[in-house]
Amino acid sequence: MKKIIAVDGPAGAGKSTVSKIVAARLGYTYIDTGAMYRAVALKVLENGKSVEDVIRDIEIKLDEAGKVFLDGREVTKEIRTPEVSRGASDVAKCGFVRKKLTELQRQMATQGSVIMDGRDIGTQVLPNADLKIFLTATVEERARRRFEELKAKGFAADFEQIKKEISLRDKQDSEREIAPLAMAEDAILLDTTNLTIEQVVAKILRLAQA
Ligand code: C5P
Repeated sequence: MKKIIAVDGPAGAGKSTVSKIVAARLGYTYIDTGAMYRAVALKVLENGKSVEDVIRDIEIKLDEAGKVFLDGREVTKEIRTPEVSRGASDVAKCGFVRKKLTELQRQMATQGSVIMDGRDIGTQVLPNADLKIFLTATVEERARRRFEELKAKGFAADFEQIKKEISLRDKQDSEREIAPLAMAEDAILLDTTNLTIEQVVAKILRLAQA
């Protein structure tokens, strides 16, 4: 059984949806590293302080139920806005932010069996992971999924705008100098464009149990 699973890939590829289900089925802890970059961005947006100031004494916690806490306050919903998505991609370029969060993520991975998702888990955070998955899908399909998700939650959504924002974030995440979004050499590529959530989950479970 693979005890440490790393899942990387671009925005909207289904990483968190699939990782949460796999974690529940295997009894593993799910760690959403994107939520941590989002929490940093939220603090910057709310306080109007520099990233250097904000990162110094920040406290980010993820609980078993997937709730996110920033300095003791629950921010699970607040970190999901498009503004915070853009902000997360901006703060993720800073070396000192990545250093701090990478340390925290490695520490979290020492607590038993985990599935961790993000952009640099297989390449930087957990290079010795037992299983590395790179999840992707076409930008149209990823935008379509986000669009449907927002609509289902009752939010007004504009498909072309979502597609533009996803493409921009992919570009920024892939082209940054430090720990860019990249597939590890020993990762397994899973293109989910034409797969259901259950099919992707089944594939990962098979690989985890091999
Ligand atoms: O995964 P999610 O879309 O929530 O991540 C938000 C942003 O955080 C990404 O666009 C990326 O810029 C950044 N991120 C990162 N490294 C990670 C996880 C997320 O740079 N391991």
